[in-house]
Amino acid sequence: MSGADAMDLVVDDARLADGRVVSLGIRDGRYAAIGDLGPVEAAARIDAGGRLVTETFVNGHMHLDKVFTLPLAGDGALAAYTGDAMGAAQRSITEDASAVKKHYDRAWIVPNVRRALDQAVLNGVLHVQAFVDVDTTAGLEGMAAVLAAREEYRGLVDLQVVAFPQDGLLRDEGAADLCEEALRLGADVVGGIPWIEATDRDAAAHVEWACALAARAGKRVAMLVDDAGDPSLRTTAMLAEAMLDHGLAGRGVACHGRAIGQYPLPTVLRLVDLARKAGLGFVSDPHTGPLHLPVRQFLDDDLPVGLGQDDIEDAYYPFGRHNMLEVAFLAAHLLDFRNDADQARLLDMITVRAGRVLGLNGHAIAEGNPANLCVHHDDRLVDVLREHARPRWVVREGVVVAESEVTTRIVRSGAA
Ligand SMILES: [Zn+2]
Repeated sequence: MSGADAMDLVVDDARLADGRVVSLGIRDGRYAAIGDLGPVEAAARIDAGGRLVTETFVNGHMHLDKVFTLPLAGDGALAAYTGDAMGAAQRSITEDASAVKKHYDRAWIVPNVRRALDQAVLNGVLHVQAFVDVDTTAGLEGMAAVLAAREEYRGLVDLQVVAFPQDGLLRDEGAADLCEEALRLGADVVGGIPWIEATDRDAAAHVEWACALAARAGKRVAMLVDDAGDPSLRTTAMLAEAMLDHGLAGRGVACHGRAIGQYPLPTVLRLVDLARKAGLGFVSDPHTGPLHLPVRQFLDDDLPVGLGQDDIEDAYYPFGRHNMLEVAFLAAHLLDFRNDADQARLLDMITVRAGRVLGLNGHAIAEGNPANLCVHHDDRLVDVLREHARPRWVVREGVVVAESEVTTRIVRSGAA
């Protein structure tokens, strides 16, 4: 192989998640050949040394405008969201956490967003669905900051920016107009949070408004649904039905949905059928609250389910470093996903299946697809999850965009 057949990058001795050990030949940003490539010219080579090589990571749900704002919100907001089995989650959002937004100014939000996106690149997280508060308190300050960051990081991280009316639409008169303005400024996705409204009728009107707008604007829709300790909440089903009504099948995502975990099984199974019909994807973030989606049931029924970092040091969660392996590691415990098969499912929920949730085209290591990959430090998935270290190399469309080395040693005094 030579000349026109030469590769831009070859990753040799790459162990894929299915156990195959292959060479990955990359040309023009895509996988041109996978397998035993024989002698092949390449402008650059990486020797993976039999280590695990995966797709880059997808963060299905992230409040990107709020990162590192916990010092402004204080511990009280954190306790209010998760306390009493999320019984008062609504008040914590509209009262305690909302207080931060009175101080919103793109001048300090942009550096925080950069810090979170730098962490994303180093951790191999190259696709993020970023929710940004758009309401009469935050105005468009957070949106302006995240849209600026989206352009600054173009070619490193792909942001799907969601115009998110965090305080509701009927509760917060003026938020709907601001969301439409956010779309004109360049937001990619119409957001929503129907369960925050005062009545089911208002919640239905909220969902209807968002899906009608998304259909009109040719956008996707993504909502934060049923996020309290109340099994009577039904806004996920409302979203799926409205997607079908507005021709949005396959173009919607439901995030959080913690109340669904409290539904009786017949209600869960009805929702599974409806979600499948609507092509509704889900994102779970079990580390940021005491309740979570029935993830195992949804996976058994082959629904698109991904994991989300959700928060980094804000009024809802004090930790986080934009590390989806860490999120998967935490989910392993909280979802009781421990054996080999479940570990493979965790990886799927931060790579290929998560790509399906966000409607990404060809996010999998296969010929013809974009060559976005991580070379890890270990050859077994269990070790990669256990360590949840930054990948040795992160490659985006055939180009190395991050590399991390780990150097440690034990020092024994008196030893030679
Ligand atoms: Zn969230």
